[in-house]
Amino acid sequence: MPTYKHRFQSKLPEVPQSIFSVMSALAHKENAVNLSQGFPDFESDSKLIQMVNNAMINGKNQYAPMPGIFSLRRAISEKMELLYGVSYNPETEITVTAGATQAIFTAIAASVKKDDEVIIFKPAYDCYQPTIELFGGKAISVQLNPEDFKIDWELVKSLISDRTKMIIINTPHNPSGRILSKQDMLQLEAILQNTNVLLLSDEVYEHIIFDEEQHQSAALFPALAERAFIVASFGKTFHNTGWKTGYCLAPAALMKEFQKVHQFNVFSVNHPTQVALAEYLKTPNNYLHLSNFYQQKRDLFLSLIKDSCFTFVPSKGTYFQLLNFKNITNETDVDFAIRLTKEHKIASIPISVFNEAGLDSKNLRFCFAKTDETLKQAAAILCKI
Ligand code: PMP
Ligand code: GLN
Repeated sequence: MPTYKHRFQSKLPEVPQSIFSVMSALAHKENAVNLSQGFPDFESDSKLIQMVNNAMINGKNQYAPMPGIFSLRRAISEKMELLYGVSYNPETEITVTAGATQAIFTAIAASVKKDDEVIIFKPAYDCYQPTIELFGGKAISVQLNPEDFKIDWELVKSLISDRTKMIIINTPHNPSGRILSKQDMLQLEAILQNTNVLLLSDEVYEHIIFDEEQHQSAALFPALAERAFIVASFGKTFHNTGWKTGYCLAPAALMKEFQKVHQFNVFSVNHPTQVALAEYLKTPNNYLHLSNFYQQKRDLFLSLIKDSCFTFVPSKGTYFQLLNFKNITNETDVDFAIRLTKEHKIASIPISVFNEAGLDSKNLRFCFAKTDETLKQAAAILCKI
């Protein structure tokens, strides 16, 4: 290949390779137990896999309709009705996406113009800020206190101006495992009530919430729902992150703008997978059991490491657990995560990469979406450190 001789001006000069790719590759190279990138190390339900096979055999192999197949949009709408008692019109208010990542990208692309401000909370999931910046927007970061990750709503209120286009929230929260309470959502609702500020609510872990807590979807709060793009991921819910299927919900006027971008961004999403998911969603227990399933894994993991030198506050949702290593070393979290992978053969995610100005609170994130076997193996290593 001849060398490219011209000067390429990067649109994202500061953006490195994602930490998920970096740590998973290192785990692979070092043959380490991989609790870094968030994906299950067990299979999706064989019934669901069979349904995808059947859809392929039955000829569902050409483009799906642009917003997603109707039966899947209807099943999503029924799920929203069942869980939250709210109605999203499958004709005009739901789009099936290539995972939540594409839903987030498309919602931001459709909304954010040059010099618009978007408020995000740090530690923040890694795709928010680069996507905002790609469209000329400016991320206004609110760094959460790494002890309790609580949001100071008065501070948020003070940051809102005519330039504010959007706020992005994420509950249950990756990486902290904290959740927003009803009180949080009411405060956000009060702040946004008489503004034009949009809400992007990342709810990919809505079905993974522990200790009898209820997920506070933005859909439940009318003054939030009327301005919200809500994004979800089937990969997180049905143990098939590699299928990259998710969806976005929004009131018709917002969804119309979302779809204008979606049609040129991907046009439509994997067809046989949609057919299978539409069928599988008809059984609510396929997602309702998830909190119990993952709570057992969280509890197993925490009981096994309770006597280790790591300290923790139990995760309230997601399949991530933060472990603090202040008592072990004063290395940076990145250095320690790399050393743990190379020397101790266990991979995690250092949290500073999601923080403002790389704030290092000496926390590593461990994914417990793993077989009990893997969790026992991981805990045995952690207890020796
Ligand atoms: N948001 C958050 C908070 C996530 O943790 C993830 C990763 N699953 C995504 C969005 C992206 O989801 P998907 O894999 O469906 O693109
Ligand atoms: N959401 C997953 C995590 O938090 C990673 C997804 C990805 O690799 N982009 O680990």
